[in-house]
Amino acid sequence: MVKPSLFILILSALIAPGIAQAQSVDAALQNEKGAQIIFGERVLTGAIPSNIKKPGSVSTVVKSWQGAWAKGIDAALYWKDNKCYFFKGSEYLRFDLKSGTVDKGYPRPIKGNWPGLWDSGIDAAVNWGNGKAYFFKGSNYIRYSIEDDKADKNYPASIKGNWPGLWNDKIDAACHLGNNRVVFFRDKEHLIYETKSDKVQSNSVALNADIHSVFSKNIQVSPAPNAKHVLMIGIDGCRPDALKAANAPTLHNLINTGAYASHTRILGPRKTNSNTVSGPGWSSLMTGVWADKHGVNDNSFKGRNYRRYPHFFERLKSVRPKSFTASIASWGPIPDHLVSYANLNLKLSTKKGYHAADETATKKAVGLLTKSNPDALFLYFGNLDETGHSTGFHPKNPKYMHALETIDSQIARVLTALRARPAFDFEDWLIIVCTDHGGHKKGHGGGHKNPAINEVFLIFHGRSVKKGLIKTPSALVDAPVTALTHLGVTIKKSWGLDGKVLGIKEK
Ligand SMILES: [Zn+2]
Repeated sequence: MVKPSLFILILSALIAPGIAQAQSVDAALQNEKGAQIIFGERVLTGAIPSNIKKPGSVSTVVKSWQGAWAKGIDAALYWKDNKCYFFKGSEYLRFDLKSGTVDKGYPRPIKGNWPGLWDSGIDAAVNWGNGKAYFFKGSNYIRYSIEDDKADKNYPASIKGNWPGLWNDKIDAACHLGNNRVVFFRDKEHLIYETKSDKVQSNSVALNADIHSVFSKNIQVSPAPNAKHVLMIGIDGCRPDALKAANAPTLHNLINTGAYASHTRILGPRKTNSNTVSGPGWSSLMTGVWADKHGVNDNSFKGRNYRRYPHFFERLKSVRPKSFTASIASWGPIPDHLVSYANLNLKLSTKKGYHAADETATKKAVGLLTKSNPDALFLYFGNLDETGHSTGFHPKNPKYMHALETIDSQIARVLTALRARPAFDFEDWLIIVCTDHGGHKKGHGGGHKNPAINEVFLIFHGRSVKKGLIKTPSALVDAPVTALTHLGVTIKKSWGLDGKVLGIKEK
């Protein structure tokens, strides 16, 4: 029996070319956050649709999909005792929902392990909740006894004539919803089948509905299980000694549970006229090259050569054109000059000061992470630099420290939204925290010989990060190269990037 308290929603098998946005939906689970997760080429998560009554809560959750097939699963079946099975081609594997891992020794061949079942190519499977499972293939089905662990006698049988109201063949997926109801999917349609009365619910056919509308409007789509994402947080004018001394629990936690690079150089090794200001700093942080290449030596942005050395969004898009890139910044030159190939390039007003702009940026980032699915998101904070210019860049300056602590609490809100994403457990977010320069007294220009200005830090945090202090000498240009590498982009020699990969595990 499928216990309602342990209700696991499993969609099986479907290759549906008619569904534009989800070409290969394979299997779905309901996790503890109440989201449905369909494994496939994409992971879809979203609320259960209003026309399908919510099943019981789930006591287990699939924490990690690593080790299982990432896509192209034929069928998925909740079995019993927290186990489910996934079928693909002529193989199957057993997945433990409690530990969230594939059991050892799998995949195995179907042949020889499922008496009476087809050896391969199963379309759909569903636990009927009465000790039986049903398997579908082409125009036939097999009833399988869970207790006896073998097919019942006289199967396969034809679907036609035995399933009133159901399609006669090519079932894509089937999934128990609880309350004696099972949903079947085929192409763009779904049917609700009542297991007690053994018939299809009237009015349950959703014609011309793609898989998104079958589920909900709030559905989120991400490219693949364990999909790589980058959240880059830029804090303008942040001195590392101030960061250390501040009451900044969020940033300190990222440092303590992530990787930290100190003495990060903001200036390149080759001689240029570049000043220790934001223009060259953010250019190096976004392009991965030094000023002699990107051409930005000061805040006039004259001589910029972003066509040859573009923002890392453009590099990402050249490899993964469908990536969703977003930049949220209040320092005008970033959106005006530097950002390119962004699906969203938000330029926030600073009319009410940078603190207000940072607050807006926080809300925008929270909204974006809650409602959409950025592959790469850059988020800029400007209040610290503004405070430094008006009152002094120094850890002994309470105003500078207060500004930093405010930003820390804003970052906390962004990270809360990030971790609340329904698919967060299946995603691999690399968080990078960076700054363009430090500061001395009330400025930071001309700081070529002043380490308080020209040596900063980088923080890397996430599942793919090698924790601890980074011993390799670091530089601003390393940040975008690391971001791109995490996103699965192979750095081409012809791009002429100066940065290197830092802080993440090598493949
Ligand atoms: Zn400044």
